[in-house]
Amino acid sequence: MLPAQQGSFRLFRFKRIDVHVHWSWFIIAMYSVSQRVPNYTTPAWAVLEYVMLFVTVTLHEFGHALACRQVGGTANQIVLWPLGGVAYVAPPQRAGATLWSIAAGPLVNVVLLPVFIGLGWACRWAGLLENNPDFVHFLRALVVMDLSLLVFNLLPIYPLDGGQILRSLLWYWCGRARSLQVATIIGLIGGVGLVALAVWDQSIWLGVIAYFLLSQSWGSFRAAGALRKLEQLPRRPEFKCPVCHALPPRGALWVCPSCKAAFDPFATAAVCPHCQHANDTTMCPNCHEARPHRSWDASIVDA
Ligand SMILES: [Zn+2]
Ligand SMILES: [Zn+2]
Ligand SMILES: [Zn+2]
Repeated sequence: MLPAQQGSFRLFRFKRIDVHVHWSWFIIAMYSVSQRVPNYTTPAWAVLEYVMLFVTVTLHEFGHALACRQVGGTANQIVLWPLGGVAYVAPPQRAGATLWSIAAGPLVNVVLLPVFIGLGWACRWAGLLENNPDFVHFLRALVVMDLSLLVFNLLPIYPLDGGQILRSLLWYWCGRARSLQVATIIGLIGGVGLVALAVWDQSIWLGVIAYFLLSQSWGSFRAAGALRKLEQLPRRPEFKCPVCHALPPRGALWVCPSCKAAFDPFATAAVCPHCQHANDTTMCPNCHEARPHRSWDASIVDA
């Protein structure tokens, strides 16, 4: 779980997606608004600019969430916290589904760019910008903000969108675990580069972001190692996951919910050999969906 989920509250709900805001977001908001105030003759413009940043980030996250739903994944929550937005998406574990879920976020910024530029032109054409330097600055800020979000998110540093897009592309070529290993190694190198940049620029903010990216990359690198071990285990061809159709690996990789001992449900018809507890469902190590043990029989043909 990311730290963003703790200490956040629900702001609104749209298309069955809850948008949460972390309490610390408001402190950052106040600081950011105060930073923007000197650019305008009235503080209201600074507030409006920050509201638009909020809207842009939220739209970006909705891009991820709705794309993830489109390919059959689950996405129910967006959390806005000081380091940006996080869409909690679980796309199906396929390269194409993951690629679309990730790419849809930056694509929102690509679509917004001509919208913001066009808005500026329309306002100029309508004569709204004459003798109104605040409005001119605001419209410029919208374009710069959208472009900055786009460029930053596309850096190939896992888990930034760019790093995850790179991972999804590598997935076609070298598989789920290997692609994650390669992308997270690049992410770790990029993260170290950001730390160096933060020291050189004496930017605490960049340092915090670099630390966050490094810790996430490291966690995912370790998960990739575990995933690779799992991929290399021998399989049981007489069973298959009713959801993702992956063959289950051989070995005591499941934990009995009753006695917490490790066992292999495919060797014992889902009865725990330690406490004799009969498990109704078996979780798929590939897609993490739990389904009735009977439905894992490979001879069952999908309707
Ligand atoms: Zn994104
Ligand atoms: Zn599965
Ligand atoms: Zn047991």
